[in-house]
Amino acid sequence: MSRIAVVGGGPAGLAFARVLARHGRPVTVLERDRSPAARPPGGSLDLHAGLGQRALEKAGLLAEFRAAARPEGQAMRILDPGGAVLRDWRPGPDERANPEIDRGRLRDLLLGGLEDVRWGWEVAEVVPGGGGAVVRCADGREEAFDLVVGADGAWSRVRAAVSGAVPEYAGVTYVETSLDDVDARHPGLARLVGDGAVAVYGVNRGLVAQRGGGGHVKVYAQYRTPQGWPADVDPGDADALRAAVLDLLDGWAPPLLDLVRHGTAFVRRELHVLPVGHAWAHVPGVTLVGDAAHLMPPLGAGANLALLDGAELAEAIVGAGDLDGAVRAFEERMGARAGRWAARTAAGLERLVGADPARAVALFDEVQPS
Ligand SMILES: Cc1cc2nc3c(=O)[nH]c(=O)nc-3n(C[C@H](O)[C@H](O)[C@H](O)COP(=O)(O)OP(=O)(O)OC[C@H]3O[C@@H](n4cnc5c(N)ncnc54)[C@H](O)[C@@H]3O)c2cc1C
Repeated sequence: MSRIAVVGGGPAGLAFARVLARHGRPVTVLERDRSPAARPPGGSLDLHAGLGQRALEKAGLLAEFRAAARPEGQAMRILDPGGAVLRDWRPGPDERANPEIDRGRLRDLLLGGLEDVRWGWEVAEVVPGGGGAVVRCADGREEAFDLVVGADGAWSRVRAAVSGAVPEYAGVTYVETSLDDVDARHPGLARLVGDGAVAVYGVNRGLVAQRGGGGHVKVYAQYRTPQGWPADVDPGDADALRAAVLDLLDGWAPPLLDLVRHGTAFVRRELHVLPVGHAWAHVPGVTLVGDAAHLMPPLGAGANLALLDGAELAEAIVGAGDLDGAVRAFEERMGARAGRWAARTAAGLERLVGADPARAVALFDEVQPS
């Protein structure tokens, strides 16, 4: 039986491994983190019926997902910077198109039942040859496989084995913060955010706050700016980042600013993307899935596509006699789908964080059911 490894234990890598495992195929997951608890798992993800949920169905995890998900988290409210409500959409009782789940919960679902997950394996490079590939780790360990799948995210080390592409700055910087135990500690802000998310769009800037499980709220300030904003600020200095965001949103309604004022840890993220339609000449023994293959703006598609890539590649391998032929055919299908989403999310980012806030609000009308 083929020896298969996947580099990266994010949504793409774990969906891939879980679907293979479901079909009785051995797979090795090589993950840089030292353990599942090595870093905070991140915020909430909405899994679309036709993408992420389809992947979980292939993994035999749809029922468990539904039990863990928060359908009420689909609620979405849009305010103007003065605090007036422009849109207020709440899901009906049976609405299950895009329920939310915490990233950590999703990861635990996918991890359950996987036998060969090697934590603390930081892959430095993958060298193809002889139809397979050798994985080399930063600490000198190495191992040969028939197929290595790069699911190692935006700054993939596997990608260099097939492509010279590197992510480029997308013109927008996020500053992310969070509020804990919001219902007890900030009841006014809990009402403002509601069960799902609240978004506000100004000129070339925005603010989105989204509820996760357990009273956790993630807040994202978004700004269209040259790289390096805020200037002269240490990205590790929470107070300085908070002050820069408050300055950016000067004049906005006080409760909106309170979402930032009460934020705890602050992280700056300069959004990067791979070129729309990123593709590579097929290299036997190595392929890419998820962000490693098609990093795009974070507009609700990346984790969904990552899950579906992983699940579909695994299914293609299980159903094929010819491993390399199955991978090659999958790459074409994935590339076509990712290209469509990359174009759509790039256009979406232009509108959401752009010169005309009315175009941002109108985008919401195009994607939400009325
Ligand atoms: C602020 C923000 C909000 C987002 N919101 C959403 C959303 O609501 N819905 C949605 O669908 N998408 C969302 N996305 C996008 C989504 O997070 C990504 O598209 C998704 O996580 C990609 O999954 P992945 O498995 O390809 O990569 P990742 O999730 O990045 O996982 C990569 C894994 O590989 C590991 N790794 C990295 N390098 C190495 C190495 N050298 N060796 C071994 N292991 C390595 C990492 O530790 C990690 O576990 C958001 C993104 C951001 C930044």
